[in-house]
Amino acid sequence: MSRLISHRLENVILEKGELLLKEQPLLVVPVVRDTRQLDAWEQRILADLADCPQQQQDSFWELADCHTEVGQKTATGIVRTNGLPIERADGADVVGLYSTMSRFNHSCIHNVNNSYQEDAGGEVLHALRNIRKGEELCITYIDLFLTRQDRQSTLQRVFNFRCTCPACSLTGEALLNSNRSRDRLQQLREALPSAAQQGLGEAVIAKIVELIDQELAGNAAAKTYTYHMGLQCFGDTNRSAALKCAQQAWKEAAIAEGSTSWLSTMLAQQIARFSAEDGAA
Ligand SMILES: [Zn+2]
Repeated sequence: MSRLISHRLENVILEKGELLLKEQPLLVVPVVRDTRQLDAWEQRILADLADCPQQQQDSFWELADCHTEVGQKTATGIVRTNGLPIERADGADVVGLYSTMSRFNHSCIHNVNNSYQEDAGGEVLHALRNIRKGEELCITYIDLFLTRQDRQSTLQRVFNFRCTCPACSLTGEALLNSNRSRDRLQQLREALPSAAQQGLGEAVIAKIVELIDQELAGNAAAKTYTYHMGLQCFGDTNRSAALKCAQQAWKEAAIAEGSTSWLSTMLAQQIARFSAEDGAA
């Protein structure tokens, strides 16, 4: 994902939840995590690429490679720099490469959210909040429930850059508060499954959401994840809490991914199922 190309808005004000972009992948690549297999992986990507139309191949090679020297791009370097995860029903570890979607920069307080939607034919991008004229559109490459030091070391290791986003540029007391909030978010997320068993799940979720509002500008993707996790933790043991989580997750997912995403659809079905069962009881 190129640090050189930024997507700046001219005269547009984007509204929270707005669909900004829908894009088919240039190439879908199975991920190889074992670095000893890099040569074999390179050959496999090159073989797949050779089957693509020339224009698609050219677009692939135009993408940035942060893992190799300038002028010596490799296919694996491009995939590791630009691949966006594709969630598939079979659980396969695959990423998609995109001419536009792969070029968005990262921010630890990102304002747009990318997600893969099979039914929409690829990756979609939604505004997480109202976006002012001139604001850069940024996605996140990493988990954001991390302190600045942990975010920086992950971004440096995986993407070879130092983040200078507003959250990473904080100093003094503001930085301490930010780190404290993100550390707390991580602890609360880890504590949620056992808290739910002890009847404290709803209080933990309320605290996580409060911190997301303070620290992550109300990030609807992070809230979706939190409520969805709550739904899974409560399951059938606390039906009213599970229903509330499903309803909140659905509301946030409609903003972060659109109301027809597979997650939104699954949540709507879950809510309908709960309602039908409660009606029958
Ligand atoms: Zn940052």
